[in-house]
Amino acid sequence: MSAQHEVVIIGAGPAGYTAAIYTARANLKPVQFCGYQPGGQLMTTTEVENFPGFRHGVMGPDLMAEMRAQAERFGTAMHDKDVERVDFSKRPFRVWVEGEEITAKSVIVATGAKSKLLGVPGEERLMGHGVSTCATCDGAFFKEKKISVIGGGDSAMEEASFLTRFGSKVYLIHRSETFRASKIMLKRAQDNPKIEFVLNTVVEEAEGAKKLEALRIRNVKTGLVRPLLTDAFFIAIGHVPTTGFLGGQLKTDENGYLVTHDGAKTNVEGVFACGDCQDHVYRQAVTAAGSGCMAALDCERWLEAQHH
Ligand code: NAP
Repeated sequence: MSAQHEVVIIGAGPAGYTAAIYTARANLKPVQFCGYQPGGQLMTTTEVENFPGFRHGVMGPDLMAEMRAQAERFGTAMHDKDVERVDFSKRPFRVWVEGEEITAKSVIVATGAKSKLLGVPGEERLMGHGVSTCATCDGAFFKEKKISVIGGGDSAMEEASFLTRFGSKVYLIHRSETFRASKIMLKRAQDNPKIEFVLNTVVEEAEGAKKLEALRIRNVKTGLVRPLLTDAFFIAIGHVPTTGFLGGQLKTDENGYLVTHDGAKTNVEGVFACGDCQDHVYRQAVTAAGSGCMAALDCERWLEAQHH
């Protein structure tokens, strides 16, 4: 990996794989660093019903395996390793992977974001089996069921309101009585007769043998601990973009999301960004894939211009 590459892609969710498919088909011989756990957030999802082209749905990990194979088919060189740091201060750009230095004319950053988790027992074990971080993805599996949502921001309000389409009842659990949510979204949730607010409450454990059956909740004011019977538990306490390894060399907003302009361009010419690391609004597999395509086309055009 000592030669200077045309393009290095960092990250391997729908955005990174799509960027790889496009740049590989453009004969740019992309080198992709997929991380130690390739595939991104879809690897922890079960059935995906809203990715176009799969009328019967597709399992998240299967979808990612297909995208990966498609990118490999056109010659993407894949390495399941993490990029530790980068130097975008001059060209060629440099990235370090397990201590090895790699140089590239252009870079596409597609490192995604992670949902914040509570870190309580049962949460990870029951992920995909009643516990979820995505209402859009998993809500429809819980028709006429009891659903719980945790969080006090706009995400939690939006998800709780959305989930009333499916559930017979939606509990909105929040650790205080004050909300970060905007007034309008809070009011919409408060006015919804299917939503019951469970305030000043934290979740201590997600319980169930093979699938979620109950949450053990504690009222932080009274200290009362009790089970809350629920079939689904949506965690909506925010996301963190994976942009720390960039060491502040690319412009971000106050939450760490990369700022792009004119398509997928970052503040550093020749470095492009796509997917959830630059999108806190849509966060869908299909939008991430679409932005991966944009980054690849922008990158290809930029490289082309460098050669003239
Ligand atoms: P957020 O505004 O940061 O809210 C996170 C919520 O989760 C807060 O209520 C916080 O409680 C709670 N929380 C954090 N860690 C927790 C923990 N360990 N245990 C229990 N509760 C915890 O995040 P967000 O709702 O994802 O929104 C992020 C941004 O996207 C915001 O700017 C939001 O306006 C925007 N957004 C907009 C829309 C829309 O307009 N349609 C929809 C979704 C998101 P505390 O308040 O007690 O800290």
